[in-house]
Amino acid sequence: MEMSTTEKRNTYEIAKERIKHGVEQLGLPLSVYERLKAPDRLVEAAIPLEMDDGSLQTFLAYRSQHNNVMGPYKGGIRFHPEVDRDEVAALSIWMTFKCAVVRVPFGGGKGAVACDPRKISKQELERLSRQYIRAMAPVLGPEKDIPAPDVNTNAQVMAWMADEYCQIKQYNDFGVITGKPLDMGGCVGRETATSRGVIHATIEAAKVMGVPLQGAAFAVQGYGNVGFYTAKFLVEQGAKLVAVTDSTGGVFNPKGLEPDALLEHKRQTGSVKDFSRCEAIKAKEIFAVDCDIIIPAALENQITREVAQIIKAKIIVEGANGPTTPEADEVLKEKKVLVVPDILANSGGVIVSYFEWVQNNYRYYWPEEEIEKRLQQKVVEAFAYLYDYQCNQCSNGVTMREAAFMYALQRLAEAMRVRGWIK
Ligand code: NAD
Repeated sequence: MEMSTTEKRNTYEIAKERIKHGVEQLGLPLSVYERLKAPDRLVEAAIPLEMDDGSLQTFLAYRSQHNNVMGPYKGGIRFHPEVDRDEVAALSIWMTFKCAVVRVPFGGGKGAVACDPRKISKQELERLSRQYIRAMAPVLGPEKDIPAPDVNTNAQVMAWMADEYCQIKQYNDFGVITGKPLDMGGCVGRETATSRGVIHATIEAAKVMGVPLQGAAFAVQGYGNVGFYTAKFLVEQGAKLVAVTDSTGGVFNPKGLEPDALLEHKRQTGSVKDFSRCEAIKAKEIFAVDCDIIIPAALENQITREVAQIIKAKIIVEGANGPTTPEADEVLKEKKVLVVPDILANSGGVIVSYFEWVQNNYRYYWPEEEIEKRLQQKVVEAFAYLYDYQCNQCSNGVTMREAAFMYALQRLAEAMRVRGWIK
């Protein structure tokens, strides 16, 4: 089955729509929307990169700093060929709301380089990562703006970036970047933190929806950091992984897939396609699969109105940022599908990034059990107070996403009011 991709939405417009909608629902002054509708600052740089063959190529780079009323700007850096200003601006807005929702004392930021990391060598990747920091260093810092990994960036990229920052400053200041390797002040459990958070959110969602996780069928879109670990941990919880897609295609087996073996296949072949004893599916067919839970863990705007119409699952837990369009939300609300919104569901990454930053600042490191305990506590608590806010403090029929935006907006508006940013 081929899905239409006619419903192309601009992610930044969607982010602004969601803020405006929340401001109206809460009856907040329009000044709240005015303060939040655009990033405080969006730095754009052309990065000249010397390629291995001696030629020079220029890559566009961005850092968007949305709002810092709660604390320093915070958000990942994405390397992707199709990334642009609007996407980075939107993602930085999501970070402001995510931090406010889970009560992490950061604002919202996001960075990106428009490049295809699969087409550059490791040496070029290192030079590009370092050049990015040289371009953005004036606006970064542990008390100003703290990057982290995102799509196509990882702990090694963070290590090069943090090292470059320290070289510029002439002293070690590891709190400038999170998601670093353990040997450079990284936090145990950061690599799996987002997925662990997705799991805690999924367990809570399954409870309120009365879906037993034992034997529940689930499908995952995207098999990178978030997709793979979420699949692995959900299978450990007794659920059954029935379908996976990545950017190249997908596989389906109603009897269940083994996450580690599938990862090994992806490592060897570069794709989840053609995994043994599976039926091939096309990228968007993942959403038509007969299952209880869907985990989008790829990119934005994947679940459009048309896609929402064919979804059979009862629960969607948004591992990715912004995977669902507002039009799709309407359809899913009608169908009574519980959508655990990105700003709660994938908050595990920023929560453990916060723990990493605290540890870097104190130069005192906690054991893994402590990190896991605190992460679980934060996600489970956030799910509980948001669910309560949705059921008891909002008018009838508000989705969990609307409740999350309203909850965050109330906190942000109050913080801006006491600081005198708005009347
Ligand atoms: P990643 O680069 O490790 O993996 C991305 C995966 O998505 C890859 O498997 C890629 O093949 C796949 N993909 C790309 N386009 C696709 C398509 N059209 N259909 C199916 N699959 C497709 O990235 P990640 O770190 O796992 O991030 C995934 C999502 O989670 C992003 O939206 C990111 O912003 C969000 N997120 C990540 C973190 C984190 O800590 N890594 C934290 C919060 C949110």
